[in-house]
Amino acid sequence: MQFRHPSDKDDVLRTKKDAFKIPEGVIYLDGNSLGVLPKNVPARLAEVVEQEWGMSLIKSWNEHSWFDLPLRVGNRIGRLIGAPEGSVVACDSTSVNVFKVLAAALSLRADRKVILSDNGNFPTDLYVASGLAELLDKGHELRVVAPEEVEAAITEDVAVVMLTQVDYRTGRLHDMAALTEKAHQAGALAIWDLAHSAGAIPVDLKGAKADFAIGCGYKYLNGGPGAPAFLYVAEVHQDNVTSPVTGWMGHEAPFAFDLDYRAVHGVNRMTVGTPAILSLSSLYAALDVFEDVDMADIRKKSISLSELFIKKVEEKCPQLTLASPRDPETRGSQVSFRFEEGYAAMQALIARGVIGDFRAPDVMRFGFTPLYLSHQDVVDAVAILADILETGSWDRPEYKSRAKVT
Ligand SMILES: *Cc1c(COP(=O)(O)O)cnc(C)c1O
Repeated sequence: MQFRHPSDKDDVLRTKKDAFKIPEGVIYLDGNSLGVLPKNVPARLAEVVEQEWGMSLIKSWNEHSWFDLPLRVGNRIGRLIGAPEGSVVACDSTSVNVFKVLAAALSLRADRKVILSDNGNFPTDLYVASGLAELLDKGHELRVVAPEEVEAAITEDVAVVMLTQVDYRTGRLHDMAALTEKAHQAGALAIWDLAHSAGAIPVDLKGAKADFAIGCGYKYLNGGPGAPAFLYVAEVHQDNVTSPVTGWMGHEAPFAFDLDYRAVHGVNRMTVGTPAILSLSSLYAALDVFEDVDMADIRKKSISLSELFIKKVEEKCPQLTLASPRDPETRGSQVSFRFEEGYAAMQALIARGVIGDFRAPDVMRFGFTPLYLSHQDVVDAVAILADILETGSWDRPEYKSRAKVT
């Protein structure tokens, strides 16, 4: 095997790329938004459709353990985020899970009215929080401060500190253990959104004593478009929490068809309705590739790739300004650069096979997924980016008209 970039030779994860379908000529720097297709998924999905659904029909709920699939997927994700067996369940979307865990957390701190978050949070988390406050109609306040002001803003009136660990725009990384401890000292609970953490960086929910967490299945976990999200409840809360959506899947005995709701023991009480078996099966299979992977190796390579990227971009693309923290210890697995014409430049880049994305107003965002990217990919991607900027080839009308999804 020929290694054009020397760092690729010592890469313990380099064989993992074979597990993914990556189109010829594409360098994919958007696995933080939609992970690529793991090669084992189509066959597994075909089997679930043809054999399980097609042949075993409704018997599959028992025979093929469909009923337990949300927990089985949850346990696989749990291993990546430092959560004990039985404390993570895969269900619904991240937005819906934010609603459920926030409502559950607020009811555990009924004497307090402040939800604290930061303005680097993903908007849907804030929308859901303010919508919930309005729905509850008990005088809750969503208090939003700058990310660096969160710690000082954790005061004794805060019920819940709700943060996204890795900022979707800049990649800035919050100190989960320190902020959770601060929240607990003030008598508040901590909810962590791991959308850009799960499968990207080592996370230790139990060690950090996080109360609740949620995250996406379709980003670094590669579960496919709209894959089910996940939800974590710390063991201490599992039998005290009440879901705001008391559906039959959270019932102690769904098939007793009782008229009264009794929450089941454990994290499953946060589930609502019939699980999405096809997309859960896809996510379950996608997680195979993580089975023998150490998240510490992923982190090490992620830092190596992103450091190389920053170095090369700063060398070759003086038009761009780093928008991410420079210290890799305070950055997730993505790097963002600001450029006034970032939207058009990203479109031009995508047309040349280097796929990243754009976040308003001027952020070009690049995700680093160590399972299927090499150092050589990084070097090649920057060479194309530099060419686009140098020649001004981004300056064309077709690169400037905004699509619905950026
Ligand atoms: C991607 C992302 C979401 C997306 O939520 P969906 O309900 O899956 O659309 C939510 N929160 C954060 C922090 C994200 O990065």
